[in-house]
Amino acid sequence: MKVQVPVHKNNDYQGTVADLTYQGNGVVKVDDFPIFVPNALPGEQVTVKVTKVTSHFAWGRVMEWQIKSADRVETADQKLLQSGIAPLANLKYDAQLKFKQRQIQELLAKAHLNDIEVLPTMGMADPYHYRNKAQVPVKLVRGQVETGFYRRGSHKLVPTEDFVIQDPQLDKAIVVVRDLLRKFHIAPYNEQTGEGVIRTIMVRRGYYSHEMMVVLVTKKRKLPMKEELVKGIVAGVPELKSLVQNVNSQRTNRLLGNEDHVLWGESAIHDTLLGIDFTISPRSFYQVNPQQTERLYSTAIKAAELDGSQTVIDAYCGIGTISLAVAQHAKEVYGVEVVAEAVNDAKHNAKANGIRNVHFVAAKAEDQMAKWQEQGMQPDVLIVDPPRKGLDEQLIEATGQMGPKKVVYVSCNPATLVRDIQRWGEQGYHVVKPIQPVDMFPQTTHVESVTVLERTEK
Ligand code: SAH
Repeated sequence: MKVQVPVHKNNDYQGTVADLTYQGNGVVKVDDFPIFVPNALPGEQVTVKVTKVTSHFAWGRVMEWQIKSADRVETADQKLLQSGIAPLANLKYDAQLKFKQRQIQELLAKAHLNDIEVLPTMGMADPYHYRNKAQVPVKLVRGQVETGFYRRGSHKLVPTEDFVIQDPQLDKAIVVVRDLLRKFHIAPYNEQTGEGVIRTIMVRRGYYSHEMMVVLVTKKRKLPMKEELVKGIVAGVPELKSLVQNVNSQRTNRLLGNEDHVLWGESAIHDTLLGIDFTISPRSFYQVNPQQTERLYSTAIKAAELDGSQTVIDAYCGIGTISLAVAQHAKEVYGVEVVAEAVNDAKHNAKANGIRNVHFVAAKAEDQMAKWQEQGMQPDVLIVDPPRKGLDEQLIEATGQMGPKKVVYVSCNPATLVRDIQRWGEQGYHVVKPIQPVDMFPQTTHVESVTVLERTEK
């Protein structure tokens, strides 16, 4: 049956915002036909101009608010809302936390799993300035070197000096580098012409250590005015410990290339997480919200209820953050991760901290789990922290065969979490505690949570 489309491009419609999508857009319905409207909040009465129509939905823009939401943050920088940086910055923080809790509840309800409880989202006391890493594009805008962010879905640079959710020391360092590039006429790399030097500035700062790293990503090895630039950055960023040039000559969306040259100081910085020392080099993965990472992983580790006698598997272990924190509470820990460099970092970090009861393997988690199962490994607890696509069925089946008592599921995507909870059910594993969401990315739509499953007769 063909759907009658009741709205037309460039026409105005009046309505009440009924809902907020998982991407943070308001939904206004005209005869049940949804119009997605950026920066419109549930309960608001608005006049919307339709900007795009497809057969099943439309996009629109608010022309006027008749009634505004009590949950609206009026000061939210409109530029930030348009970016991928802070799409929820127009919503009060309490409402953001409820929005994240409700998202998991709704997905559970759709899957007829209403009996599983979801706790209120663990938020931050200061839900801004939390990121320990910045990676900003550098471009010429009206003849001037600018740093900022790309507007969502585009390569259009929006210049800014205040990134709102980054450690302010990162923002300051970016301005120092930008001003030096202006002063010494060092041109940004231009994708169209292939001319120019600097592609991206990356800055990291240890939350506890306060050690800073600046990485200049360049198109070529040659860096004009190198000495002056180095001198200027060293003078302008007092906490600097490491200044690196990364060469990325490819035409690619990947930020960093494979070539690092230390321009000044060390090749890496350090920070601690849950009391463990981590070495962070330019290309290392490291969680970007250290305060909430500690809370998320502490929640997961507590849920594992370890007393030092257990064998634990940490699947999708990355640089071993969870494995190393678990090690002091377990007999043996086995970590598996597909990115070989991350596994090398994990091994290095284990050694540097004198932790000997952890073992890391570079492999796909689903393959390695099947292998361990064949080898007769009998873990007590499995911890998983998969990417957005969730768990592979093979991993769930292999786990069912091995039969650990407990599974602790750290999830960054409620949709695949709920799908996987259903699959775990087929292996006899059921959720035994309320799900705990933890807000790792305030002002954004990301939803992280910890779920505990146990093998139970049901
Ligand atoms: N706990 C980790 C982060 C996990 S993020 C830490 O704190 O470092 C998810 C990880 O899963 C990423 O490191 C990604 O490289 C890895 N990954 C993705 N697919 C995988 C697979 N099929 N098998 C194993 N690891 C995988």
